[in-house]
Amino acid sequence: MSKVVVLTGAGGVLCSTLAIALAKEGNSVAVLDLRKDAADKVANEINTAGGNAIGVAANVLEKDSLEKAKEIVNDTFGKVDILVNGAGGNHPLGTTSNPFLVLEDLSNKTEGFKTFFDLDPKGIEFTFNLNFLGTLIPTQVFATDMVGRKGCSVLNISSMNAFTPLTKIPAYSGAKAAVSNFTQWLAVHFSKVGIRVNALAPGFFLTDQNRSLLTESDGSLTKRGQQIIDQTPMERYGKPEDLISTTLYLCDDASSFVTGIVIPIDGGFAAYSGV
Ligand code: NAD
Repeated sequence: MSKVVVLTGAGGVLCSTLAIALAKEGNSVAVLDLRKDAADKVANEINTAGGNAIGVAANVLEKDSLEKAKEIVNDTFGKVDILVNGAGGNHPLGTTSNPFLVLEDLSNKTEGFKTFFDLDPKGIEFTFNLNFLGTLIPTQVFATDMVGRKGCSVLNISSMNAFTPLTKIPAYSGAKAAVSNFTQWLAVHFSKVGIRVNALAPGFFLTDQNRSLLTESDGSLTKRGQQIIDQTPMERYGKPEDLISTTLYLCDDASSFVTGIVIPIDGGFAAYSGV
């Protein structure tokens, strides 16, 4: 491959790994992130290893910021061929304290304890905006370069919680379901202009966002962390590198007849009923 690839959220754990892998294949890579320092760090690592990358500040929720980023990418590398929509995440205000509502919870007045009834619409809104609009708006901006050209595609990052919602995180599960649904919608919408649209649905990867939920300070697993391993037939968390081969496949012309799919990379989590 020798394409121009833009990745959002690529200062983060998963998409920095994908940026480095895509650069190793000979692509020119624009590392976009809200945190410019994080984007620059990844770009520097790629350039030091002999690749071709730039770090660019961009907020996936602000079209102006994305337009500015696109100008920089176009001036540096030319037209964009591939967009990886990696920015995403959850918000604590859209998360319940317990997996199930029990009567005792309704009289629990502990500071910070949240049932479904205490969920803050602001947390829900943040999560839906970041994951759904944060996928849609960058696509509006960068896919204009792809229309009518060959070998172009969009890769979204959904989650296995889009197939079956995980307990405690209704906003994040719903927002990722929206990302999967949008992946199919956009694949159909773009089918006549040469842009393929697919998604990865990663399972559980230990990252900064979920480390405190899944591991104790001594590195042992929390109850939820152990539950995940018990529910994962392959009995381990994903490593960021587990996402590379599927990403390369979906961004490459080797998958030129593949569009509108969401591929689980989850050690069998989504396939397993637990029995
Ligand atoms: P991460 O927090 O390490 O990376 C996310 C990056 O997005 C961060 O660098 C952050 O600065 C950036 N970002 C946040 N808001 C932004 C905005 N408004 N504009 C631009 N950039 C912004 O997270 P990660 O674990 O690498 O997750 C990457 C993607 O994979 C996300 O969409 C996440 O929802 C998804 N995912 C992660 C897991 C997992 O287990 N880690 C599982 C399934 C899906």
